[in-house]
Amino acid sequence: MNIIMIGAQGSGKGTQAEMLEHRLGLKLCASGDLLREHIVRETPLGLAAKPYVERGDLVPDALVVQMILDFIRSRGSQGIALDGFPRTIAQAEKLDIDLGQMGQAIDRVIYLDVPRALLLDRLSGRYICRAHGHVWNIKTKPPQVPGICDIDGSELYQRSDDTPTKITHRLDIFFSETIKLLDYYGAQNKLARVDGAQPIDEVSRAVLTALRA
Ligand code: AMP
Repeated sequence: MNIIMIGAQGSGKGTQAEMLEHRLGLKLCASGDLLREHIVRETPLGLAAKPYVERGDLVPDALVVQMILDFIRSRGSQGIALDGFPRTIAQAEKLDIDLGQMGQAIDRVIYLDVPRALLLDRLSGRYICRAHGHVWNIKTKPPQVPGICDIDGSELYQRSDDTPTKITHRLDIFFSETIKLLDYYGAQNKLARVDGAQPIDEVSRAVLTALRA
């Protein structure tokens, strides 16, 4: 099963994609995490993507699509939970074509619906772990020891693109550009909407129910 999680920054899609990895044995493919790894390693892709990521702009489709398809090919036939990709119609179309050539397809797309005011509130409390990018939130999902990841003990930090101005810019891009994917996948009868404003466990239950439907 190949699943896409669509949601604005702070909607909890990363947390739910991780849940799908554990519950359904899917391979998690988070485009933002992959890009940040390339940036830290200073690969050619990382160097090209860095200015866009730092501004909170979308990285050009050609760069991101290539990175994701390489990742999917390296996983063989294991199902994938995509988090943060696709973000444009052009990315979605290319993904459909290339998956089709591999004899695969997207099976289900989940949209985590969260009001913008709540997204802004959540993002201001978001912290990420250095070692593996695990996501914590001082308001909704605090770590047991402040500043330390419960899972791997590494230091937590705030992303440089989680400043108020960049958050506003990234949300504007989501609600003007990425939101168009709802029509794209709705037309393919693959879309399920889940209320992402609920507590995390209830969102997880609703996501799993939507995938069984
Ligand atoms: P995220 O961790 O998903 O919020 O992504 C962090 C940043 O990586 C975004 O603000 C973009 O600059 C870039 N990025 C991640 N995924 C994509 C994508 N599918 N298309 C273009 N840029 C992306």
